[in-house]
Amino acid sequence: MDFEAFFKSELDGLHEEGRYRVFADLERQRGQFPRATRYTENGSHDVTVWCSNDYLGMGQNQAVVEAMKSTIDHCGAGAGGTRNISGTNHYHVLLEQELADLHGKESALIFTSGYISNWATLGTLGQKIPGLIIFSDALNHASMIEGIRYAKCERVIWKHNDLKDLEAKLKAADPKAPKLIAFESVYSMDGDIAPINEICDLADRYGAMTYLDEVHAVGMYGPRGGGVAEREGIMDRLTIIEGTLGKAFGVMGGYITASTALCDFIRSFASGFIFTTALPPSLAAGAVASIRHLKTSQIERFAHQERVRRLRSLLDARGIPHMPNPSHIVPVMVGDAAKCKWISDILLDNFNIYVQPINYPTVPKKTERLRITPTPLHSDADIDHLVGALHQLWSRCALARAVA
Ligand SMILES: *Cc1c(COP(=O)(O)O)cnc(C)c1O
Repeated sequence: MDFEAFFKSELDGLHEEGRYRVFADLERQRGQFPRATRYTENGSHDVTVWCSNDYLGMGQNQAVVEAMKSTIDHCGAGAGGTRNISGTNHYHVLLEQELADLHGKESALIFTSGYISNWATLGTLGQKIPGLIIFSDALNHASMIEGIRYAKCERVIWKHNDLKDLEAKLKAADPKAPKLIAFESVYSMDGDIAPINEICDLADRYGAMTYLDEVHAVGMYGPRGGGVAEREGIMDRLTIIEGTLGKAFGVMGGYITASTALCDFIRSFASGFIFTTALPPSLAAGAVASIRHLKTSQIERFAHQERVRRLRSLLDARGIPHMPNPSHIVPVMVGDAAKCKWISDILLDNFNIYVQPINYPTVPKKTERLRITPTPLHSDADIDHLVGALHQLWSRCALARAVA
């Protein structure tokens, strides 16, 4: 087989469908977030980033950066092994205590990313619990889908955030089979939020465990940044709460929190936990600093929500259509893949505004969008500049306006 020709023809297919991914080559500037330097073939220039998942700018927070630097000075660069074989550093232990406390659970277990935490946990539960049926929301993240697939257990997909459909499917299943309901709190592309309490009611009624991915909510919702379940006072109703250290906490890594027995079970059986090098101690220390900061400081959360409201109201004033939702994610709807890509390119090249276009298959066709994520560090001038640029491009592309 001509392997090179095969790779190239597959890539040509992506180009033809307009799905080929181009990465912006950025250098983030500490102290200047959301500014970054963009490198191109023609040199470099500064851009304002409007699509970062560093939702609160914690990636440049003084306490976080100092903790990481001092831990490198103290412990060196890497962990030096898997958790089992010489890689467990004291900072990993502190981080797991901090996370268990954040979610009011007995225990926590950290992984090298949120992706791995979903994949390894769902995969291990589905493989090991005899006859387990996993009820998975139709819009769950790829990492959960892959975990469930790897589990090779029975899976039932229920309509997104649809309690009637979930109940019908729970009712139709064997009453004696062990069950798990897997879902997210904030869904990242539409920014809508699951009816967590009602899903827990159904779980109680049908004897199911619950698995909640709070990746887009931890740090940002709840009085201590414990997520939407904390805000609603129902963290104790969930069997497992999963999160990331890479989004609002500004660092890297993933975790689950649950009972001691459940965390110990995953620790003891999950290949994706056991056979991989532990996070560097500096990352764990940075995450501890970030979580501790956001447990007591409301400034970032309040400023974040205020920036989101301001952006939405200025978009409304200009008739730029954006999807309403109760979260911090502002999907500006374009509804055409080529125009979406074109607008994103012009924003970057002519306005120094970076928003990655979101096209199929990440979202359905005809719902192509710019997924805008304001942070507490976007100024009034930044927002005015963004909305002004969108206003011009909406006219140039003859895109529909929203009617007020
Ligand atoms: C980003 C994301 C993850 C993966 O987290 P990482 O720490 O980035 O690997 C998991 N679930 C959802 C819903 C996500 O958006």
